[in-house]
Amino acid sequence: PVRYYDWIAHFGRRTPDKIAVIDLASQRRLSYAEFDQRISRLASHLRDQLGVKRGDRVAVLALNTTDTLEVQFACFRIGAVFLPLNNRLTVPELQFIVGDASPSVMIHDTDLAEVALTVAKLCNVASALLFGPGASYEAAIAAAKPLDTHESVTLDDISTIMYTSGTTGQPKGAIITHGMTFWNCVNLGGPAYISPSTVLLTVLPLFHTGGLNCYTNPVLHSGGTVLIMRAFDPGLALQLISDVSAGINQFFGVPSIYQFMAQHPSFATADFSRLVIGGVGGAPMPVPLLKVWEERGVALQQGYGMTETSPAVLTLDKEDAVRKAGSSGKPVMHTEVRIVRPDGSDAGVDELGELWVRGPNVTPGYWNRPDANASSFTDGWLHTGDATRVDAEGFYYIVDRWKDMYISGGENVYPAEVENVLHQIPAIAEAAVIGIPNEQWGEVGMAIVAVRPGHTLAAEQIHAHCAANLARFKCPRLIEFVDALPRNATGKIHKPTLRNKFGVSKA
Ligand code: ATP
Ligand code: MG
Repeated sequence: PVRYYDWIAHFGRRTPDKIAVIDLASQRRLSYAEFDQRISRLASHLRDQLGVKRGDRVAVLALNTTDTLEVQFACFRIGAVFLPLNNRLTVPELQFIVGDASPSVMIHDTDLAEVALTVAKLCNVASALLFGPGASYEAAIAAAKPLDTHESVTLDDISTIMYTSGTTGQPKGAIITHGMTFWNCVNLGGPAYISPSTVLLTVLPLFHTGGLNCYTNPVLHSGGTVLIMRAFDPGLALQLISDVSAGINQFFGVPSIYQFMAQHPSFATADFSRLVIGGVGGAPMPVPLLKVWEERGVALQQGYGMTETSPAVLTLDKEDAVRKAGSSGKPVMHTEVRIVRPDGSDAGVDELGELWVRGPNVTPGYWNRPDANASSFTDGWLHTGDATRVDAEGFYYIVDRWKDMYISGGENVYPAEVENVLHQIPAIAEAAVIGIPNEQWGEVGMAIVAVRPGHTLAAEQIHAHCAANLARFKCPRLIEFVDALPRNATGKIHKPTLRNKFGVSKA
């Protein structure tokens, strides 16, 4: 049978000497043939020594490393389920996820040994292999024989359980099938200009769909090269992108990644001339930040997706990036989208509704979550929870999450629109807006703002700027200054934390 999941074996034969992955922290460079060999040996070790069977979950708790990718592909080869864990979570948070997904083994990083061993013990999971030079992972690969047989895995089999970012509440385990990952590679290939010549710098965490599938897996599916950064460092990222010998021509980040790079001292002199694409998605992208990058000659291309859609749903083409700045573009090839009114009918042009998605890249459901499964789907359409509109030319605009919208004096306010206006103020490093209960207006907006180091900013200046640029009901009435905004491991602003902290009206 065709092995849809085995891109590495394919390129191990087709372009054996080509570099597949580079681990920046350890400086390990693996050709496709070497990568394929290591995956094959790891797969046989998992199956024959650790007793991992088809359908068993294999957890990984690590900072970004090429080893994590080997575990993914090894799981695919034996029909096991890859379970990447968020390395920023605390023991109780991990205990929830590991208890929920019940892996049979856990593989972890030396730096995270204490947390990993505690969680493994609490959840009764065998902690099996340890990443790192001289550690058991390397010994296992060295001692193992290449895998002799292959499981016949179909496109509908589960390949991965990936937990959502937990931006709106508890993370949910999205079931990812081999087909979903495969179709995402197909869907993104063209729009993200992925080819065998692609050299991608991956800075987002590999336990999140952004790091793994934008564009790490699709680039490996095309026989390109991926450089893995252990943890995002804006200065190092700018240095690598500028480095001719590294040859990086592709990059993907969430908005905060671009924000931190733009605020770094070497942004002004960095060389972006080799970048074919700078993709951005995962959270609302402030249009003023797009402009900052455009002034440096980089037309960032927004895309929209979610863990549950593996992830690409919408992408903006390079030709439209400036003219349609703020749009997430148009649907990728093998997916269907609708914008739906609360009564279930289709919204018209420019009318705001909820985005629904259907297609082979969409999850069949959440792991152990009958409640979420019942409320999230209608006839195979996944309800994204995102307020969206489409213009007359067919370009989609993700406005904000429905749940983050608040109603002030009877008018709907989408925080992302207000945040866009706040980001026009150069002294603002980060800004978030939430709705706060208020007796007179129902709710009023509160802006929580972090000021750039070396700048000063008074609340009156923020009020004045908003008054000049926003309708009265959208202007935040309350302003709080903080040193930094709370973010989850994906770099998204964590609004539940802000609501807990500031959720009582002072107006
Ligand atoms: P959780 O579902 O656990 O609350 P999450 O929704 O942040 O977390 P992800 O799957 O990582 O988990 O993120 C998907 C969400 O990210 C989308 O539903 C949407 O709200 C947001 N998003 C993604 N791309 C964009 C974009 N281009 N513009 C605005 N929002 C985006
Ligand atoms: Mg979500």
